[in-house]
Amino acid sequence: MKTMKAVVFKGKDRVAVESVPRPAPRAGEAVIRITATTICGTDVHIVRGEYPVKPGLVLGHEPVGVIDELGPGLEELYTVGQRVIVGAITPCGQCFYCLNGVHSQCGGGIGGWRFGNTINGAWAEYLLVPDARANLAPIPSDLTDEEVLLCPDIFSTGLSGAESGNIRVGDAVAVFAQGPIGLCATLGARLKGASLIIGIDSNDTRLDVARRLGANVTLNTKGIDPIAEIKRLTDGRGVDVAIEALGRQETFENALRAIRPGGTLSSLGVYSGKLVAPYEAFYAGLGDQKIVTTLCPGGKERMRRLMAMVEHRRVDLTPLVTHRFALDDIEEALDLFSHQREGVLKVAVYPHGARAHAENETVAVGALDELC
Ligand SMILES: [Zn+2]
Ligand SMILES: [Zn+2]
Repeated sequence: MKTMKAVVFKGKDRVAVESVPRPAPRAGEAVIRITATTICGTDVHIVRGEYPVKPGLVLGHEPVGVIDELGPGLEELYTVGQRVIVGAITPCGQCFYCLNGVHSQCGGGIGGWRFGNTINGAWAEYLLVPDARANLAPIPSDLTDEEVLLCPDIFSTGLSGAESGNIRVGDAVAVFAQGPIGLCATLGARLKGASLIIGIDSNDTRLDVARRLGANVTLNTKGIDPIAEIKRLTDGRGVDVAIEALGRQETFENALRAIRPGGTLSSLGVYSGKLVAPYEAFYAGLGDQKIVTTLCPGGKERMRRLMAMVEHRRVDLTPLVTHRFALDDIEEALDLFSHQREGVLKVAVYPHGARAHAENETVAVGALDELC
């Protein structure tokens, strides 16, 4: 049996780089050789035991790679050696949920999220892609791996917060938390035509990036009341749309308090435990507010659209990739990422060890000036 190197979840706070069986595709499936992948905040939740997955699973859900092997039925659509990305969410395109247009819920609640959740994921040398016909998205030939690395999840998710919030031209928008997803939500608000975009976080470095991605105003939550400031900036009304991009009671509640009557709270965070909607912020349930939630949109058409935005230079996501690691150094990468050290936003992980770790220092902050 052929084997490969992969990062296996061993239980709370433990991962290990191990040799595991290399997947082989059946009909309709493909195997890609991973050329680059990354770490998501959700992976940190998994490793900390805050989101349950089975020990023994290969983690990771953000694959960039090259088609290595095609199962029967795909020969006319794809070729071995073709560069592709696959969304973090891999809908089948045929079930009740897919055919009702909620692809991320494929097969049932959160069911579209399979990589590193219910099936082996992308922190490996090779990845089995289910329903490949709906999910393999060819990379435009002039784009590098790092230019499209954030498309499978972070850009798709962040942008979806702005889309689900139904932001209209001229809207005032507040984005709570400016981690990678919040930053992409800020970028999404700009792409959707918001006039006033207020980025909120407690980290000044992240607020600097938020301004470069489209925030006209940034608020550091240390020492100020963001709600009072948001009301002041919006003639006392509150914003049309608030995007929650952290997944905590405090930010959910602030987002609810920040929207005007009839406004929309678009929630992207991953919560644990119970959420409370305070009586007055909720207008006793009579405020004509909308609360919408979104799981990262996936599938190859979504990926094509996101990569088209990169290809035509509407967005440049590379400044968000601040650090680089080999797969063998995943624990070091996880440690850096989860503790938000060294101004880290996203780390690129190379299963075949293409990029030197030593590059980190040169790329870290200088590249931020290049942001759109
Ligand atoms: Zn993710
Ligand atoms: Zn489906």
